Amino acid sequence: MKRYDEEDIYCRMLGHAVNFQYCRTTADGSPCRKIMDCWFERLPIEAYMKEHFSPDQLKILFKQPESKVTSILDLIEKARKRTDEP
Ligand code: SF4
Repeated sequence: MKRYDEEDIYCRMLGHAVNFQYCRTTADGSPCRKIMDCWFERLPIEAYMKEHFSPDQLKILFKQPESKVTSILDLIEKARKRTDEP
């Protein structure tokens, strides 16, 4: 798992260089959601991720965040249901 840890890359989110160890663990121990985008030209990142994470873990890691529109529509629907309740 640590084979690429010393590889460095410029992180566009943080604005400075980080190593692969940071990208695969970040602050909470899980890989950064951008790891595939950032590393695909430098490492066999897809094979690496499949080697170290189960399909279910990968699905959770790379689940698309809910759009703001969907969130707002959900909030409106919940508010409507609350006002319809007796
Ligand atoms: S994977 Fe995440 S932490 Fe690593 S360089 Fe890309 S954006 Fe930065």
